[in-house]
Amino acid sequence: MRIASGIIATLGLAGAVSASLHPRSQETRDFFALHLDDTISPSHIAQVLGARHEGQIGQLDGHHTFSLPREQTAQFDTLLNDLRTRRKLRRRSEGIDSRGTSDDPLDKILWSHKIAPARQRLQKRLPPVSVPYRSLDKRDNRQAVAFQTNAMSTLGITDPIFREQWHLLNTLQPGHDLNVTGLWLEGITGKGVVTAVVDDGLDMDSNDLKPNYLPEGSYDFNENVPEPRPLLLDDKHGTRCCGEIAAAKNDVCGVGVAYDSKIAGIRILSKPIDDVDEAAAINFAYQTNDIYSCSWGPIDDGATMDAPGILIKRAMANGVQKGRGGKGSVFVFAAGNGAAYGDNCNFDGYTNSIYSITVGAIDREGNHPSYSESCSAQLVVAYSSGSGDYIHTTDVGANKCFSGHGGTSAAGPLAAGSAALALSARPDLTWRDLQHLMVETAVPVSEDDGSWQVLPSGRKFSHDWGFGKVDTYTMVQLAKTWELVKPQAWLHSPWLRVHQDIPQGDRGLLSRYTVTADQLKEANIAKLEHVTVTMNVNHTRRGDLSVELRSPAGIVSYLSVARRKDDMPVGYDDWTFMSVAHWYVFPFRPHDMRFC
Ligand code: CA
Ligand code: CA
Repeated sequence: MRIASGIIATLGLAGAVSASLHPRSQETRDFFALHLDDTISPSHIAQVLGARHEGQIGQLDGHHTFSLPREQTAQFDTLLNDLRTRRKLRRRSEGIDSRGTSDDPLDKILWSHKIAPARQRLQKRLPPVSVPYRSLDKRDNRQAVAFQTNAMSTLGITDPIFREQWHLLNTLQPGHDLNVTGLWLEGITGKGVVTAVVDDGLDMDSNDLKPNYLPEGSYDFNENVPEPRPLLLDDKHGTRCCGEIAAAKNDVCGVGVAYDSKIAGIRILSKPIDDVDEAAAINFAYQTNDIYSCSWGPIDDGATMDAPGILIKRAMANGVQKGRGGKGSVFVFAAGNGAAYGDNCNFDGYTNSIYSITVGAIDREGNHPSYSESCSAQLVVAYSSGSGDYIHTTDVGANKCFSGHGGTSAAGPLAAGSAALALSARPDLTWRDLQHLMVETAVPVSEDDGSWQVLPSGRKFSHDWGFGKVDTYTMVQLAKTWELVKPQAWLHSPWLRVHQDIPQGDRGLLSRYTVTADQLKEANIAKLEHVTVTMNVNHTRRGDLSVELRSPAGIVSYLSVARRKDDMPVGYDDWTFMSVAHWYVFPFRPHDMRFC
C-alpha cells in the first residue's frame, strides 16, 4: 500500500532535447528502449552492442532507442537477459541499486525493453449510444436570456451558435453550466496559456481554430510530420475537443471556454502507435504546451484492465516534474464511457494515475449519464451529452460546426479549458495546485442519490461525481489568492503479505495497515492527497474480485468493483489502484487503513 501526498522536488528546467521522431519499420529491424547511466554516451553503447542508435525517447533523459537487423536480435535478447540477471545478482549482493562501479559499458544499461510493434489499443471516448435530441420544455427563462444577451453584447460575442452552447451559459436550466461568463467579464479569457489536444488531429484551417492554433506545440506522430492535420474520414474528434477549449470569439460557430488561449494538436489516434511515440507525444513541446487534454484510453468494454507501458508512465512523471518550467504539465483525462458495461475508471492506468485529472460527465439537466464511469480516482465531472442534448462545438471544415459532441470525451476538454483560465490568472500554479483547486471548488450535485460520503475535511466525495462538477468561476477566484502547495512527499508502506484464501461471499478478507503520527512526521506529510494501492492477487476470475479501502473515519474507497463482463481467468498482477476519496483526511493524526 502506498500513500502519496504533496512532491519529491526534483524539479528543474529540461534541456532542449529533440524528440526521436523517425518512423520505425519493424519489418526488418527490432527496436529496443534502453535507459543509460549518464556516464556513457548512446553512441558508445551502440558501438559496443553493434546496434544503431535511433535517438532519444521524447524528453526522457537517458532513454534511447536502438535497433538491430532482425536476424541479430536473438543474440541481443540473450545479452539483455544476462544483463538483467547480473543487475539482480548485484542488487542482492550489494543491497543497493544496480549502478555498479564497473567499467564494463554494458553495466551502464540501467533498464532495457524490447519495443512492441505499434498497436491500436487506445479508443476515443465518443458518446457510446446516440441519444435522440429532445425539444426542451418551454419555460419562462426571460431573465436568463436577458443576462445572456447583455453578456454577449458586453463581450462582443456574435458567434452564431453561442446561444446553443448551454455548457457555457445555460438559459434553459440556469446553473447547469461551467459558470464561466463572469470570468470573461473580468477579462480572464485564457491569454498566455496553451492546451495541447492529444487526439486524431486539429483542423488548423477551421476559421474557428485558426486564430488560436499554435504550430510549435503541435505534431503528427501518426504521419511523422509537424502538422496534425485530420486525414481520415473520422478524424473529427480532436478538432471538436479543440473547439470546446479554444474556439475563437469571431463570426464562426461558438467560443471555447478559454477563447483567447492557444490550442495545439498532437495526433496519435489515427494509426497504431508504439510506446516510444506515445511517450514522446505526451511530453511533446512541454515547455510550450501547458495542458494536455486526452479524451481517450483503453477500450471501455468492462473486461479490459490496461495501463500505459513503463516508458509512457515515465513520460507522465517527467511531464509533471519538468514540464512547464518545472511547474508540471497538466494532464486531463476523460473518465471513460463504459459504465453501462460495468466498467470502472480504476481499471484504466491513465485515469487512475495520480498525475492525471480524471473527468467524468454530467448532463444539462444535472443527471449522471449512463455511459460515464465511476471510480475512486475520479476528481470531478464536467458537462456533456445526455437528457436529449449534446455539446455544441467546432467541426472539421472551414466554417463547420457540430451539435453532437459527447461522452466523457466532451467533458474532459471543458475541465481542461477551465484549467487554462486558472493558469492564465495564476501561471505559477503547479499541477497539484490545479487538482487542489478543483477539489476545493467542485460543487456536489444530486446530493441525495446515496453516492456521497462526507469526509473529515467537510468536503463531500462520490465515486460517481468525484468532488462534484467543475465551477470555473469559483475555481479561478480561489486560484487568484491560492497559496501554492508544498513539495510532494511520499510514504511507502512495505509490501503486506496476506497469504490467505479469499472466502466466498460477502465476508471478504481483511488486512490492516497502520500509519503512525511518527511515520507521517518523518515522511514530512502534512496532508493527504492520493492513495495508491498496488496489489497482487491470485484468482480464477478477475471480474469477481472487489477491493475496498477503509479509513478509520469510515471513509470507503471502492478501489475495484466486480465486473460482470470481465471473465479473465487471472487475478491482479502488480496493478496499482488510486483513490482521491481520502483527500485531506487528516492533519497529523495517526491513521490506520484497512483493505478487504
Ligand atoms: Ca467562434
Ligand atoms: Ca474505462
